[in-house]
Amino acid sequence: MSQLTVYNSLTRQKEIFTSLTAGRVGMYVCGPTVSGESHLGHARPFITFDILFRYLQYLGYKVRYVRNITDAGHFEEEGREAEDKISKKAVLEKLEPMELVQKYTNLFRWAMHQFNNLEPSIEPTATGHIVEQIVMIEKIIEDGYAYIANGSVYFDVEKYNNHFSTLGLPYGMLSGRVLEDQVDTTRDLENQHEKRNKADFALWKNAPPEHIMRWKSPWGEGFPGWHIECSAMSTKYLGHQFDIHGGGMDLQFPHHECEIAQSTVCNQVTPAKYWLHNNMITINGKKMGKSYNNVIKLSELFSGNHALLTQGFSPMTIRFFILQTQYRSTLDFSNEALLAAGRGLKRLWEAYEALQAFEPSALTFDANEVDVELNQKVITLLHEMDQFMDDDLNTAKVLANMFELVPVINSFKDKHIAIAALPIKTFTLLQQKMKIFVEDVFGLKSELPGDHSKLNGVLQVLIQMRKKAKASKDYVTSDNIRNQLLSVGITLKDEKDGSMSYTLA
Ligand code: ZN
Repeated sequence: MSQLTVYNSLTRQKEIFTSLTAGRVGMYVCGPTVSGESHLGHARPFITFDILFRYLQYLGYKVRYVRNITDAGHFEEEGREAEDKISKKAVLEKLEPMELVQKYTNLFRWAMHQFNNLEPSIEPTATGHIVEQIVMIEKIIEDGYAYIANGSVYFDVEKYNNHFSTLGLPYGMLSGRVLEDQVDTTRDLENQHEKRNKADFALWKNAPPEHIMRWKSPWGEGFPGWHIECSAMSTKYLGHQFDIHGGGMDLQFPHHECEIAQSTVCNQVTPAKYWLHNNMITINGKKMGKSYNNVIKLSELFSGNHALLTQGFSPMTIRFFILQTQYRSTLDFSNEALLAAGRGLKRLWEAYEALQAFEPSALTFDANEVDVELNQKVITLLHEMDQFMDDDLNTAKVLANMFELVPVINSFKDKHIAIAALPIKTFTLLQQKMKIFVEDVFGLKSELPGDHSKLNGVLQVLIQMRKKAKASKDYVTSDNIRNQLLSVGITLKDEKDGSMSYTLA
């Protein structure tokens, strides 16, 4: 048995994963800012951490997966005033801020459902945790690591770094930036004069009179900074220290640095043990961004309604495309790459369905017919799938093994090789492992209308009933099943080896 290892961005190396509490994992992933529709770039982190969530459960862990909804506090860094993204968009769309939040939260959940991502255990919102954020800010002020200026509160990065050895990790440790770099790269903001140092970041912002989203606080009416919400919610639901913190690489700086500093001051411990970051998606070799005019929303991706798309791509095709690359490598989107992913998925899914349609109890296995070499090959390929997942979730290598199994499965299907070439133990292991990896861990599903997988399950029940009837010479029942299925367009076929197959009209 291999052990799960993950690349920890904090230590910049692969580490063996051991959970803080035996059998349990706490995982926090930064969720979407619901001021607009999610785009292709959002598909990768949420699919990546869904795979991790699924894999940890497969390994037997009870996982509490917390993924927040940012419905306040994420303000624009450009423009005259620091303005909350939600407030700004609400004015633009002439909606109540909470109406806007609901609209884009619904759209986000719809897209996650399309991708077959499991729902997180808790999905807390920033606006639902204003009190927790205020309490945390008060504690940071009390401990002397934040200061008040004109009704806003800023975190004192320099002071934190002067004392980090007694606190935990220095600010900049995760992203590998030193304070001087940060000063140069921090964009100028209005209200910059309120800060002691450019690297300081807002924990609370004083709301100008026209600002719609505002809450009472000890420092006057205002709204929380973006970073503090993740510290408040992860502490509340996962405790002072938890196992995994995930997100896109673009969140390492400043967002995750800020989270570490805030939580460390409040809880006297580094919040998460393992920090996992997925790499970015580029589009035709270019960074995705408004300035490149290449931001493809998820609904546009599914429908094909975007100038850069030659057609729409199904959610499973996109999921499969993302799985084809290990999450820490860059991934370039192009129409050609997606078309190839679609073909690959179809090939895999057809073989997978054919494999699952075999009923081992109805097949004849004969030890004399076993092909020793093939048997060994199949066992090795299957065992390697666990090892590859344990090696920092190398989904790309797992898929490569699956594609080595596809021709074997197809040979069974087309009867070029008798199934008896494998011992029954190997054949059932092949069915089980493929089921686990294709459906449970990778979260792939049939996209045929009417949910083909369920129909297949129902038909297998009927096939078994017909077999029993035939075996007990109850031909009235067996013919009834066959004829009634035929009347709804399903043809049952008795195969020479005693198994039954079906075709849909
Ligand atoms: Zn966050």
